[in-house]
Amino acid sequence: MASSTVRVDLDGKPINQLTICMIGAGGFIGSHLCEKILNETQHKILALDVYNDKIKHLLEPDSLSWAGRIQFHRINIKHDSRLEGLIKMSDLTINLAAICTPADYNTRPLDTIYSNFVDALPVVKYCSENGKRLIHFSTCEVYGKTIGSFLPKDSPLRQDPAYYMLKEDASPCIFGSIEKQRWSYACAKQLIERLVYAEGAENGLEFTIVRPFNWIGPRMDFIPGVDGPSEGVPRVLACFSNALLRREPLKLVDGGESQRTFVYIKDAIEAVLLMIENPSRANGHIFNVGNPNNEVTVRQLAEMMTAVYANVSGEPALEKPTVDVSSKEFYGEGYDDSDKRIPDMTIINRQLGWNPKTSLWDLLDSTLTYQHKTYAEAIKKVMSQPTTS
Ligand code: NAD
Ligand code: UDP
Repeated sequence: MASSTVRVDLDGKPINQLTICMIGAGGFIGSHLCEKILNETQHKILALDVYNDKIKHLLEPDSLSWAGRIQFHRINIKHDSRLEGLIKMSDLTINLAAICTPADYNTRPLDTIYSNFVDALPVVKYCSENGKRLIHFSTCEVYGKTIGSFLPKDSPLRQDPAYYMLKEDASPCIFGSIEKQRWSYACAKQLIERLVYAEGAENGLEFTIVRPFNWIGPRMDFIPGVDGPSEGVPRVLACFSNALLRREPLKLVDGGESQRTFVYIKDAIEAVLLMIENPSRANGHIFNVGNPNNEVTVRQLAEMMTAVYANVSGEPALEKPTVDVSSKEFYGEGYDDSDKRIPDMTIINRQLGWNPKTSLWDLLDSTLTYQHKTYAEAIKKVMSQPTTS
C-alpha cells in the first residue's frame, strides 16, 4: 500500500508525484518496477509494451488501491505514432524495451541490432526534443570481455582487480570479431549509450544509463513449452529452472567456466527507484547495478540451484545433475562469451548510497520457490502429453 506520508529524497526534499512513461513495462524488470512504484509511491505509470501477461495482476480495475495510477498501452515502439504523445505527457521516460536473450544475438543479429539501437532512437529523440528526462536501460555486456581474459591462464595478474573489475568511467569495451555475432547486442547497446551521452553533452538531455549485471528473480523470461516456445532458449536462470522442473541435467555451455555476479531483482529495483526519485544525483551518470559479492562460475550456479531446488521441491537431485555441451551445439555459430563480470560499485555508492543485500543462496531460494509453485504442475501436464512425431 502506498504510504500517505510525504516521501523525501536523499537530500530531504519532498518528492513530487511523477508521471512515468515506462517502455517495456510488461517484461521481467518492468513488472517488478511497476509493482514497486505502485506499492510504495504515488507516481503514475503509462505502461507500454506488446505484452502485459507479467503485469496483468496490476491492471485489474477497481479493487486495487492503485487503480487509476497505471494505464497499459499495447504499443510496438517500432511503428506507433502514439509514442511521442505519451512521452510528452510524462515527466520521465524509462526505456526497458529490448531483445535481450543471448540465444538471439547470434541467430537474429538484425532483429537484435534494430531492437537495441534503431528502435531506441526515437525514444531518445523525443525525450531530447521535448526536454524530458530519460532513464535508459543498457547492459553490463557493453564491457564485453575483461582485460585479464587476454592474459595467460596462469598469470598472477588475473587476480589483480585492475584486470577484471568493471568501472563505468574507466573500463574499455572489448568485443570479439564481427563474425562473433554474439556481440551484436553489446555493440548496439554501446552505440545507443554513446548517443544518449552525446544528447546530454550537446543538447542538454537529462539522462541516466543503467547497466544491469545479471538481475534475476521471479517472472524472468519463460519456461519453454509452458509459457514460451518449446524450442526457445531463455537466459540461464530459466534454462536451469526448466531442467530442474523436468528432472533433466542442467546444460553447461563450454564447461560452465564463465563467471557471473547475480543480484536479486528486488535489490536492483531499489536502485532504480533511487534514480527515479533523485534526479539531481542520478542525471548525467552511468550506473553499474549488480552484486559483486555474489560471484560464481556457471558450473557453481548449476550446483547451487540443484541443491536449492532439492530443498524446495523435496525431491532428491539427479545422480548426474549436469551435462557439458559446446556453445556451437547450444547457441549455434557465432556465439562468444563474457568471461567474468564484477561491477565496481563506487559510483552508485557515492551518488545514491545503494548496496545490494541478498545473498545468492537466499535469492535462489525465493526464486526457485516461485518457479516450483508456478510451474511444477504445468510441467507435469506438458510431460504427460504424448509427443507428436
Ligand atoms: P524482458 O525481455 O523481460 O523485457 C523487455 C520488454 O520489452 C518485453 O516485455 C518486451 O515485450 C518489450 N519490448 C521489446 N520490444 C518492444 C517494442 N518494440 N515495443 C514495445 N515493447 C517492446 O527483459 P528484462 O530482463 O526486463 O530487461 C529489460 C532491459 O534491461 C533491457 O533493455 C535489457 O537489455 C536490460 N538488461 C537486463 C538484464 C537483466 O539482468 N535482466 C541484464 C542486462 C540488461
Ligand atoms: N549458460 C549455460 N547453460 C544454459 C544457459 C546459459 O551454461 O543452459 C551460460 C552461458 O553460456 C553464459 C551464462 O550461462 O556463460 C549466462 O548466460 P545468460 O543467458 O544468463 O546471459 P549472459 O549472462 O551471458 O548475458
